[in-house]
Amino acid sequence: MAIDFGKRFGLGGLRLPILNGDQMDIDYDTLDKMIDKFMAHGFTYYDTSYIYHGQLSETALGKSLVARYPRDSFLLSTKMPIKFMKKKEDMERIFEEQLQKCQVDYFDFYLIHSIGKEAYENCKKWDTFEFLKKKRAEGKFREFGVSLHDSPEFLDMILTEHPEIDFVVEQLNYIDWVNPAIRSKEIYEVAVKHGKPVVVMEACKGGTLAEIPDEAKKLMKDYNPDASIASWAFRFVGSLPGVRVVLAGMPKMEFLDDNIKTFENFVPLNEEEYKIIDQVVEIINSNTAIACTYCRYCVDECPQKIPIPDYFALYNDWKRLQKSSSENEVMTQAFYYMNYVEQGNGPASACKACKKCEKVCPQHLSIIDYLKDNVVPEIEAYNPEAHIQKDKEVEM
Ligand code: SF4
Ligand code: SF4
Repeated sequence: MAIDFGKRFGLGGLRLPILNGDQMDIDYDTLDKMIDKFMAHGFTYYDTSYIYHGQLSETALGKSLVARYPRDSFLLSTKMPIKFMKKKEDMERIFEEQLQKCQVDYFDFYLIHSIGKEAYENCKKWDTFEFLKKKRAEGKFREFGVSLHDSPEFLDMILTEHPEIDFVVEQLNYIDWVNPAIRSKEIYEVAVKHGKPVVVMEACKGGTLAEIPDEAKKLMKDYNPDASIASWAFRFVGSLPGVRVVLAGMPKMEFLDDNIKTFENFVPLNEEEYKIIDQVVEIINSNTAIACTYCRYCVDECPQKIPIPDYFALYNDWKRLQKSSSENEVMTQAFYYMNYVEQGNGPASACKACKKCEKVCPQHLSIIDYLKDNVVPEIEAYNPEAHIQKDKEVEM
C-alpha cells in the first residue's frame, strides 16, 4: 500500500528537548506535549536513529509517541549505525534492539545511516543489502533508504548498484546548496536523476541559519517582518520539487510552533525571496573564518593530494556550528572530513610545507598555517566515535 506522507515536515529525533543541558536527560514532559501538538496539526513523520542522544532517542520516541498513539497514525523512520558496527552479527542484534526500543513490530522507513566508502565496503562484506531485503520481505520495514554526507559521485554509484533503495536522506540547505565541500545541489540532482525522493536533514544547518549576521537578518525582516529567520531556510528546501519530507530537530516548543506555521500552509519561495537568499549567502560566506573563494587553483599543485578548499569549507562550517549547535552537528563535519580521507585524499597533516599551493593562491592565504593550526588540531584530531562512546558506554 502506498504510504501517505500527509504534510511534508517531520520531527527529527536528533535534537529532542532535554533537561539541564544533558543530552541523556530527555525532557519527556515537553516531548509529550510537542508530539501531541504535532499530531493535532496533522503531522505524522518521525525520524530517529540508533546513535542519537547517546542511543536514547529511539527509546524516547517509543515512550512518547508509540506507546501513546495508534501504530497507523504515524510514520516512523530509523537508521542502522553501519559506521559503528564491528561485525556482521551486529546487524541482526541492533535491528531487534531498535524494534524493542521503539516499541514497534515494524518501521515505516529503515536507512543505512551515513553511508560512505568505508561503510559501503562493510555493507558488501556483511551482505547488508541482502539482510535488509530479507527484513523488508518479512514486513519489518516498508521503505529502504540511505543517509549520506558524501559526494554526488558516490551516491550515483550506490543508486546505480542498488536500485532497490527507495529514497535518500541528505543534508540540504541554502548555505550548503553550492558549498564545494558539501555539494548539496549536486547530491539532490543525483537523487532526482535516479527518481528517488529526498528527505532533507539540516535544513537550518543545526540552527545556524536562524542565527545569521545582523545585516542578513535585516534583509529578510525588511522584506517580511512576520517571517522568522529560520522559516526562510525551511521554505528554501520545502520549495524543491524532489523533496518528500523536511526534518527538523526541535529542542524547544517555540521551534515546533514556528515550523508548524511554515509547513501547515506551505508557500514556496518567490523570485524576489530567492534573490534575498542569494544575498544572505554572500553575507554569511563573507563572515567566515578562512576567506577561501574555492577557486581550486591550489588543488592541482599539491603533491600530497590535500583537497585544501574542501577542508577549509568544512573548517568554516565547523567554527560557525560550534557557536550555536550541539555536538552532533560538529560531529557531522568530522564525518565529512573522514570521508574525504577515506576516498584517498591526503589528510591535512600530510602537508609538507612545500608552499606550491600558496604561490598560486589568488587570495594570498596562509594555507600551510591554516592546515597546521586549524584543520589538523580541530577537525582531524576529532574522533566522532569517542564522542558517541562518551555519551553512553554501550558495547556496539
Ligand atoms: S604546502 Fe602543503 S598543502 Fe600546500 S601544496 Fe605543499 S603539501 Fe600541499
Ligand atoms: S587557491 Fe586559495 S582561494 Fe583558491 S581554493 Fe586554494 S586556498 Fe582557496
